Amino acid sequence: MTKANTTPMMVQYQKIKDQYPDAFLFYRLGDFYEMFNEDAVKGSQLLELTLTTRSHSAKNPIPMCGVPHKAVQSYIDILVDQGYKVAICEQMEDPKLAKGMVKREVIQLVTPGTQTDTGAAGAKRNNYLTALIMPAKDNFGLAYTDLSTGELKAAELSSVDAVVNELMSLQTKEVVVDDTVTTELRDRLKQLGILISTQTDVQTSSELSYVEQDLTTDRLRGVVGVLVTYVTVTQKRSLAHLQRAVAYQPTAFLKMDHSSQTNLEITQNLRTKKKSGTLLWLLDETKTAMGGRLLKQWLDRPLINRQQIEDRQAKVGALLDHYFERNNLQGELVKVYDLERLAGRVAFGSVNGRDLIQLQTSLEQVPQIQHTIAELGETIFDPMLNNLDPVADVADTIRETIVPEPPLSVADGGVIRDGFNEQLDEYRDAMRNGKTWLAEMETHEREVTGINNLKIGYNHVFGYYIEVTKVNLDKLPADRYERKQTLANAERFSTPELKEKEQLILEAQEKSKSLEYQLFVDLREEVKKAITRLQKLAATIASLDVLQSFAVVSEDYHFVKPTLVAGHTLKITQGRHPVVEKVLGRQSYVPNDVTMDQNTNILLITGPNMSGKSTYMRQLALTVIMAQMGCFVPAEAAEMPIFDQIFTRIGAADDLISGQSTFMVEMQEANHALSQATANSLILFDEIGRGTATYDGMALAQAIIEFVHNRVHAKTLFSTHYHELTALDQSLKQLRNVHVGAVERDGDLVFLHQMQPGPADKSYGIHVAKLAGMPDNLLQRAEVILQHLEEEAAEQPAVAVESTSTPVATPESQATVSVEPAQDTAQTSASSTPAQPESAAPDQDQ
Ligand code: ADP
Repeated sequence: MTKANTTPMMVQYQKIKDQYPDAFLFYRLGDFYEMFNEDAVKGSQLLELTLTTRSHSAKNPIPMCGVPHKAVQSYIDILVDQGYKVAICEQMEDPKLAKGMVKREVIQLVTPGTQTDTGAAGAKRNNYLTALIMPAKDNFGLAYTDLSTGELKAAELSSVDAVVNELMSLQTKEVVVDDTVTTELRDRLKQLGILISTQTDVQTSSELSYVEQDLTTDRLRGVVGVLVTYVTVTQKRSLAHLQRAVAYQPTAFLKMDHSSQTNLEITQNLRTKKKSGTLLWLLDETKTAMGGRLLKQWLDRPLINRQQIEDRQAKVGALLDHYFERNNLQGELVKVYDLERLAGRVAFGSVNGRDLIQLQTSLEQVPQIQHTIAELGETIFDPMLNNLDPVADVADTIRETIVPEPPLSVADGGVIRDGFNEQLDEYRDAMRNGKTWLAEMETHEREVTGINNLKIGYNHVFGYYIEVTKVNLDKLPADRYERKQTLANAERFSTPELKEKEQLILEAQEKSKSLEYQLFVDLREEVKKAITRLQKLAATIASLDVLQSFAVVSEDYHFVKPTLVAGHTLKITQGRHPVVEKVLGRQSYVPNDVTMDQNTNILLITGPNMSGKSTYMRQLALTVIMAQMGCFVPAEAAEMPIFDQIFTRIGAADDLISGQSTFMVEMQEANHALSQATANSLILFDEIGRGTATYDGMALAQAIIEFVHNRVHAKTLFSTHYHELTALDQSLKQLRNVHVGAVERDGDLVFLHQMQPGPADKSYGIHVAKLAGMPDNLLQRAEVILQHLEEEAAEQPAVAVESTSTPVATPESQATVSVEPAQDTAQTSASSTPAQPESAAPDQDQ
């Protein structure tokens, strides 16, 4: 080791760094946080900082880089957003007073899952930290928390897939595991881009025993223990806002795997990865950040309990009917700040005066909100009314303690009201008197010296001074004035009297600042006692906000209340895809029915490309999700059962270009649906089998349809280009054909986007080819081949193949030369996009 490495400071640094090997250590040195060694090399690249070295003279200089302490948050955010951890190491004593090395300690470990300062962009998003334990094979405990709001939930899961799904739908960035979690599972999670942190021993704490109270199993308590320990160890600050853990069952909600959520663009646009163009974007008329986050939670977990759904529906209905009250409610909600996160900051001790004023303002809205809700005159709101506690004691205390417009920093004073504390008032008087005295002194000195521009000022280094410009210097009496500082065209002086006053003023200032700080901390502690009440209030306001948002969109977009039926009848009259409709405009969107009675489980959808098959399928899925969230739905009337799960295999646009691996994913997703779906599920299969050779794909498609028909009985929409499959309605009683109509108008192809009963016209592809201007003799040849194929198919109809035992293989005899061009023809009609009429092809994401 070189000499530089053994300086006392570097020894201290290394000792601390050793405790945080997987984090960037931000080591406070005066006004900077410094990084050394590998941290410095990597940190300087990631943060675009200049890399320097410490002790140039040494043989092995130490790489170093630093960030100013005032801007540290933005640098921490950059690193943490990229999945790194940052340990913040502070000076624990005043360097001026320290004997020997200044004591330093890590005061917080910021990690992707514990980051709470997510800024305005994150206001409507939760940041979940998750913990996972695996006491036995296929036996998992999972818990998650959002540190900024204190929400804490735990569940028991019984498969790796369920775990992965849960983590993906929580969009968790960091999972804390103990040593029961296998390396294999850790690796799988890492592949999903999740940061794995390890917490082996669980520490008991008062916070832990509080949050665990309602948990009934060892597994739940175990995983919550791991989570809370990790949070305690990394945050090293009060966690009074952690809410009591609530056990939940993922099966108590409408289940959707992550790929379905992605495909249906529920919260994230497939192409842009943003919120715009999603169902969340459409439904979000929330006025508060809390409401925004809750809406997203409801979207991620639609209900399956009829009573709960109908309860929300009734509230949405009431708000929809009372325009005036709804309007008032919105006006009041706008003035409510993020109570949940404010409560979190109170617990963390990072709250400032302005935060408390925001809290007060928010609480002041509550009586109004109560009044508005009571005005609705609907008993269904009674439980909510009871929960709307205005926490008036807290609002009053804040009002009495803090000035209406406090400065940002608590440390500089000016936060506490006059008249609140006698001692503080005395200090302030002393300061004010001092200032008056200074003003009088200025006047007096001007008179005595005859210097009109003589002035008294203050700066941090020299304190109070009398400033005289150089041209006037000769007018000064030599005796009383003592030189302090020389400027370009002025001199600054002090006098014994000024010094004496200065001391009094500064002392009063100092004392008043520290007293103010103390009073502020007392207030904060007082508010802290009300955290649980504040959180309950926040939850109620968030729900109200989401419900009014549902009412707003239901009115704006003409949604109706769906009727939830007990049987298996699905009847949606004139349904619409709400997002495509919003983008295209109401006039351009063609509504469609979805009718499936008790005895119809499968709709086989045929029709040309770009005609609207996949939109029709998505439309149904979104309608179901909206209904089960308690929202109204885009239709003229809707009757539907409550679904337990939704499975989708809907190709994204880019699937067409990618190859074999896409087909594998397609088969995996189909398999997942077939093995998990029940008679109460909804399955959407968009052109399954397209990704392989025609007969191969067609055989698979038919076998899948048969499997769903005979074994699964789930309500299924199946779109296909294999016209041959439409004959299945002869043998499969629960299957019906529908198709999307298109007509030729003035030589152009016009998509009607209209679902019609029966199969699509089979020579459709040739028709399109004709419109595209293909040579006549080619088209004639295609007609001949088509006819030939049809004749053969009539001899060997697909439906004639016994289901289940024999796969639907195409007889060897068909694989003759004459079939080859036919495959191409089929391919053409299947995947080329016909010339698009202007009206039919707007991009739904625009
Ligand atoms: P397919 O799945 O048949 O290839 P899509 O469902 O992707 O077709 O629809 C193609 C485009 O047609 C959509 O992007 C949309 O702009 C438009 N479209 C679909 N359905 C409708 C409808 N019912 N009314 C109006 N336009 C529609």
